[in-house]
Amino acid sequence: MWRILKNVEFANSKECLIIKSKVLNVFRKYEQKKSVDESGGILLGYVYRNYTEIAKVTTPNRFDTHRLRFFIRSKVSAQAQINKAWIKTRGTLIYVGEWHTHSETNPKPSDVDKKMIMKSLKETKMEIDFLYLIIVGCNSTYWVGKQTMEELIELNGRSF
Ligand SMILES: [Zn+2]
Repeated sequence: MWRILKNVEFANSKECLIIKSKVLNVFRKYEQKKSVDESGGILLGYVYRNYTEIAKVTTPNRFDTHRLRFFIRSKVSAQAQINKAWIKTRGTLIYVGEWHTHSETNPKPSDVDKKMIMKSLKETKMEIDFLYLIIVGCNSTYWVGKQTMEELIELNGRSF
């Protein structure tokens, strides 16, 4: 199996999100094939002044609920992993959003997804005022958005 070696950048005129190649390889592993359950987890990243870098993601665990078109991650296990990353990196690697798979090429967020990411932003106790949502579609296609208190903005992808 070949592995992705390049980081990928998603951006618009104001925002930039970099996804590390090792994270893309995790997404690739969980890329939804037909009749496989939806997978997902949380995004852990470093927030810089001009961009955010996704450096680590959590993957489905036995506490999560899997259904074909729905993924509910366990709050308790996610929080434990957020705390672990925070301690290990002295508070620099933080919770920056959510990811999950869709069984479609060129995925789009559903109404449930939009409500979920806004709810997560309102509930997060981190010092940031935004969260990212990454939807992993089939054939290495992605939908990436940044949720602020005002809006969910789509970011366009390009490799570098
Ligand atoms: Zn979804």
